[in-house]
Amino acid sequence: MKKLILTIIAVGALYERPARSQTASTALEKVEIQAIHVQGNVHMLVGAGGNITVQAGIEGLLLVDTQYEQLAPKIVAAIRRLSDKPLFWIINTALDADHVSGNDALPKLANAGIRQNVRIIAHENVLNRMAAAPRGAEPIVPDKLWPNDEYYLPQKDFSFNGEAVVVYHMPAAHTDGDSIVFFRSSNVLSVGDIFTPGRYPVIDLQNGGTVQGLITALNRILQITVPLKYQEGGTYVIPGHGRICDEADVVEYRDMVTIIRDRVQDLIKKGMTLEQVKAARPTRDYDPEYGGPNDAFLEAVYRSLSIKK
Ligand SMILES: [Zn+2]
Repeated sequence: MKKLILTIIAVGALYERPARSQTASTALEKVEIQAIHVQGNVHMLVGAGGNITVQAGIEGLLLVDTQYEQLAPKIVAAIRRLSDKPLFWIINTALDADHVSGNDALPKLANAGIRQNVRIIAHENVLNRMAAAPRGAEPIVPDKLWPNDEYYLPQKDFSFNGEAVVVYHMPAAHTDGDSIVFFRSSNVLSVGDIFTPGRYPVIDLQNGGTVQGLITALNRILQITVPLKYQEGGTYVIPGHGRICDEADVVEYRDMVTIIRDRVQDLIKKGMTLEQVKAARPTRDYDPEYGGPNDAFLEAVYRSLSIKK
């Protein structure tokens, strides 16, 4: 029970931040949405929060993640420059507020004036955590943002716009409800916060993330990606945040997380406390590339490895 309450506080904090903070909503007013063609049917929208993936074709539109509610008018304007078709599908890569907060506003705006239901796909752990409510209280995430097409098997697949779309569950990585989405003929993989080039990963222990699961997920991504030539190009990878990448970028990131995991494991074996591990700076040589020392990441690795199995 104590664990459940901790989880609720952790997720609740994520959702309250943008609404409560005056500066956050003023900052969102200034955000411009940039659309970048990735490959084939797939585009990436960059604004604030997680990257949005757009698959557009003769049938309609599919989105991976939805950023913030306040950005919905600008996001729909950017989508309308790519296609005038209805929105059919949304897939959420995890439960984070900056990836799902447009789940209600985007379908309403995109399909204004037409009758078209939007299916919102996510792993069932996303729904379970969003719907968790302390006894007698409201669920921490309002039900209008919940997925309505959750899956529980290791993968879910369907065809849309003449293309195979494969959603894979990545257990216990960034959270326990992570999905990655492969657009097979476009040869583009959208992976959410499992992979964030230029910044250390968020391993959200309260929501079921683990460092080992994150490394396993990065290795799964590497099984799906196929480079074109000299380890470059081929399958493109849309990260949760940051630029469009390919397999070589994911290899570098996987190696970084694996090496830091091994270093922290060694320090734990030597009997070091968390404070001693932080003081030993096991990420020192990577810090310039990943945004400087990050105590939250180190702490998550330490605690993840310290959990008794
Ligand atoms: Zn994110």
